[in-house]
Amino acid sequence: MTLSDIPTGGKCMIVKVHGHGGFRHRILELGFVRGEVVCVLKNAPLRDPVEYEIMGTHVSLRHSEAAKIDVVSLSEEAHPDIDKDYHGTIEEHVRHEVEQLSKEITVALVGNPNCGKTSLFNYATGMREKVGNYSGVTVDSKIGTFYHRGYSIHLVDLPGTYSLTEYSPEELYVRDFLDNHELDVVLNIVNAANLERNLYLTTQLIDRNQPMVMALNMYDELQASGDRLDHEALGKLLGFPIVPVIARTGWGIDNVLEAVVQVYEGTATEMICHNPAHQHQHGPAVTHHIHINYGREMMAAIDEVKDLIKLNDDMRDVIHPRYLAIKLIEHDRTTMRMFEHCNNYSDIIAAADHYKEVFEKEYDEDITSVVSDLRYGFIRGALGETFTPAKHQQKTEMGYALDKVLTNRWLGFPILFCFMFLMFEVTFVLGAYPQEWIETGIAALGDLLREQMAPGMLTDLLVDGVLSGMGAVLVFVPQILLLFMFISVLEDTGYMARAAFIMDKLMHRMGLHGKSFIPYIIGFGCSVPAVLAARTLENPRDRILTIVTVPFVSCSARLPVYLLLVAAFFPHHQAVILLGIYLIGLAIAILTSLLLSRLRFKQQDNPFVMELPPYRIPTLRNTLIHTWDKAKEWLQRVSTIVLLASVIIWALGYFPHHENSTLATDNTETNTVAAESQQLENSYLGRFGKAIEPAFRPMGLEWRAGISLIAGCAAKEVIASSMAVLYGIDRYDDDNQETLATRLTTVTDADGNRLFTPLAAFCMMLFVLLYFPCISTLATIRKEIGRGWMWFSLLYSTTIAWLLATAVFQIGMLI
Ligand code: GDP
Ligand code: MG
Repeated sequence: MTLSDIPTGGKCMIVKVHGHGGFRHRILELGFVRGEVVCVLKNAPLRDPVEYEIMGTHVSLRHSEAAKIDVVSLSEEAHPDIDKDYHGTIEEHVRHEVEQLSKEITVALVGNPNCGKTSLFNYATGMREKVGNYSGVTVDSKIGTFYHRGYSIHLVDLPGTYSLTEYSPEELYVRDFLDNHELDVVLNIVNAANLERNLYLTTQLIDRNQPMVMALNMYDELQASGDRLDHEALGKLLGFPIVPVIARTGWGIDNVLEAVVQVYEGTATEMICHNPAHQHQHGPAVTHHIHINYGREMMAAIDEVKDLIKLNDDMRDVIHPRYLAIKLIEHDRTTMRMFEHCNNYSDIIAAADHYKEVFEKEYDEDITSVVSDLRYGFIRGALGETFTPAKHQQKTEMGYALDKVLTNRWLGFPILFCFMFLMFEVTFVLGAYPQEWIETGIAALGDLLREQMAPGMLTDLLVDGVLSGMGAVLVFVPQILLLFMFISVLEDTGYMARAAFIMDKLMHRMGLHGKSFIPYIIGFGCSVPAVLAARTLENPRDRILTIVTVPFVSCSARLPVYLLLVAAFFPHHQAVILLGIYLIGLAIAILTSLLLSRLRFKQQDNPFVMELPPYRIPTLRNTLIHTWDKAKEWLQRVSTIVLLASVIIWALGYFPHHENSTLATDNTETNTVAAESQQLENSYLGRFGKAIEPAFRPMGLEWRAGISLIAGCAAKEVIASSMAVLYGIDRYDDDNQETLATRLTTVTDADGNRLFTPLAAFCMMLFVLLYFPCISTLATIRKEIGRGWMWFSLLYSTTIAWLLATAVFQIGMLI
């Protein structure tokens, strides 16, 4: 509840004052400090100002000011359940409540991508958000609450940004968050191994004049590099505490939290102890606001624009006017829009534009470069006084040497290719062993069920529906775990960013951006996070192109079908064919983007800014956590959607049920098979399949494969499970040790023709690779870039899939 909500005649007690430093200072000076009682003398909604009595004097505030003051009402109606005998007076009760409330601190983590925000967040909150060694892992904010020394801290993990401009969705998101949420402390995380770059954002945060603490993360790397930083001196220069931490191990995080609490308490009482002697007692944590030195001319310009801004009462409370003035001079459109309603809008814009031109002329550069040069000047100055570089930097030279090889013009690409080949080969070979065990286990379980249960519908449901459907997907768990593990390791070592770097030139030629390569690699795991990862791309054109093409990168859900078909039809060339399929997916993605960038978007040049993080040895713990997190989601899908789909497909194939087909148990084996396939053909599923068969015939697939493909629209894992149910391993023959793979190579139609040839199998893989992104992916695409592109993605991919699979089959038949 805020002070502006209290009606005339009401009384309340103050909890805290929000807003930027200048504003808070003014309000505190009027006497609005924690625990003070305020009487509302006159509060007419929509009528400014409101009159208050505080500390025996009369004070008037505007609504917009009162709205920044948190209070607890002292009226009896607001506390209906208080027991006077037990709790004492309302005031005592409320004082207790105010104390509780003032111990809730909202803290936002702000920092560059990849500086360790999520690591710190995880450590402090005990949660397990994803940590990755490349930018763009955190795309939304996450809130975690925990307790520290009697304070309850709400920690918000924001996306990483390099600055607070308006070039990428992350930047706008973070800006918007800082503008519109009542934050108590901003926790700026800085990568100590890359200070100059990281402090850039810090200068912008300083301009905003919010209570702030800096966590100097990766302190281990700073120490290992031999560089030295006098962080206490830097903290004094910048005006807030700087605390070294190693977020990965948790070292120093307690100190950070301590500093956060101190700064918070310090700002709440800054009025009381604004006498310098007092300040000293509070130690280093009491902050003071500094003005970044942009040089005399710029400072004068900022002041002039700031004074114009201050004429609008409502604008000066919310965001620090100095910060707004700088933004306006920088010609920041988002900020300009904030002023549209102001009376002196045209004056403000005219002044800002005037200075913009003056500076551009004087420095012969555009205004954003002018301001950023001035910022960097400030940073270099501050570091010059506090930072001593090591004499020789062994550590970085190691990384440099590695980079020389891994991102080499000639070697980089073959090495990347080898890594990817290795990834598939190892996944395949190693995964095959546990796969066999699981296969045997499931077969044994099926036999056991058949033996123990009376023959009938329930047994059929369990064995032919549930067990064979789920089993067909479960056997691939080892392979999928391995693939996820590989992706995690690539992310954690820092190689992922190199991959983007290597691919940049090539990707550019394809109309994409080097950074698109990261969503692509994530896409091997799952398209949904891949679509989200495209948010790191700054310009909308690159983002749309990446999102629309990323579903062509084959996700792990499609892997079971490939593995099944490859094992059945290409037993001697498994890895090659598999890699081939993945490469075809990439090729289609690239062609599509090329086509779209020609047809839809005019060519734009977008310079490549991709930070190359230092190489790191991934920790086993992180790798296991990531792998498990990904696998968990996957297993959830298998146990819900796949289970449901298997049962539905089984049921549609089982009904209407003809008794004679079960009576056939006594007959010879051929008769059984014939009766059984007749049963399936006459079922609902069979009739539906026959009806849609013409659509799949041209690419060499018959109706059962067609049904599996349609079922796969829900989730692509369902394809393999449906095939298992539909091509069911001989149900009435216990001696039959056939696996689904061999079954596929031998299954024939009524005339004894083989249903699946290697060619048809390959076409099916092609179709699975390209058609219909699953429902979750489409929903994500829609959320990210709108309904139009979602429909485009749906129709385009399915059309391409059909055309290509058909073409390959028809041409293959001719040869
Ligand atoms: P975010 O993008 O800011 O959320 O950063 P993450 O928390 O995802 O971390 C990026 C990478 O830095 C991960 O590989 C972490 O393991 C690593 N990392 C985080 N903190 C430290 C640290 O204090 N020291 C070192 N050496 N590495 C760290
Ligand atoms: Mg993160």
